[in-house]
Amino acid sequence: MLRAVRLGKAPCKPSGTPFLLTWTWGAPPGPALGPERRCSWRACAQSPRGDAWHPRWTGQVSVPGGTRQSPINILRRDSVYDPELPPLRVSYDAASCRHARNTGYLCQVEFEEAATGSGISGGPLENHYQLKQFHFHWGAADGRGSEHTVDGRAFAAELHLVHWNPTRYPSYQDAVMGEKGLAVTAVFLKPGTLHQALQQLVDVLPQIKHKDTQVALGPFDPSCLLPDCRDYWTYAGSLTTPPLAETVTWIIYKKPIEVAPSQLSAFRALLFSAVGEEEAAMVDNFRQPQPLMKRTVRSSFLGTEAQMRA
Ligand SMILES: [Zn+2]
Repeated sequence: MLRAVRLGKAPCKPSGTPFLLTWTWGAPPGPALGPERRCSWRACAQSPRGDAWHPRWTGQVSVPGGTRQSPINILRRDSVYDPELPPLRVSYDAASCRHARNTGYLCQVEFEEAATGSGISGGPLENHYQLKQFHFHWGAADGRGSEHTVDGRAFAAELHLVHWNPTRYPSYQDAVMGEKGLAVTAVFLKPGTLHQALQQLVDVLPQIKHKDTQVALGPFDPSCLLPDCRDYWTYAGSLTTPPLAETVTWIIYKKPIEVAPSQLSAFRALLFSAVGEEEAAMVDNFRQPQPLMKRTVRSSFLGTEAQMRA
């Protein structure tokens, strides 16, 4: 069974109160689980928060407030065009790419942390944000897999490029929990034609089939995974995996990229399980949309009626 262990003494409040929990698998330990467990994360989550956890998560969950969680459902009609939003500037150093890794929850490509010139700026960002890693979320079938949805529609997969703010923080680890610490760009993936640039990564996936395996990757510039149209939505949100820190400026490209069905299949052939464990296919590693909670989603583009219907 999945159980929550409360680490702090924080009272259970609907929102606004920091609390710290850890998720773990197995039987309850007995004495520690008295009436206090009524104030579990799950109980707190019987609220506008919705389905806020994933059964494959491990580690600590720190939710400072819970008022700007991610992902969200983007409603085109409710997004606000901001003519002051400049284009996002993207410049990555391909040589700083290090390896691809199966984390046990998703597939992640990691970059050298000291690669100072490699990152994004402009758009809604006040500072330059440096690339740390990118990863994917995907579904067991094409009709689901993305974390963000648009007008209730999910895509087959979603790419997240995770950047941190070296102007404000000395390291990625410090930036994760800090105000304006992270900026994540998101790209939707839909089935279509083969994506040549993605294939370099797809080719090594069989080598990281199991949890906690990794493979060295040659130079790789992830800007080749961005759509040709750079229109985006932006809003203030959180990480979508523990610690769910509410420190993320999200930038979500409007236009999806196309990938071949065979490329999606390669992701679905990865495993949540480690070598020697019972095999569990790595699919549906996405979090459900979270309540918007009075946040505004801004767009860098003026939506037309035709685009609304598309
Ligand atoms: Zn992600």
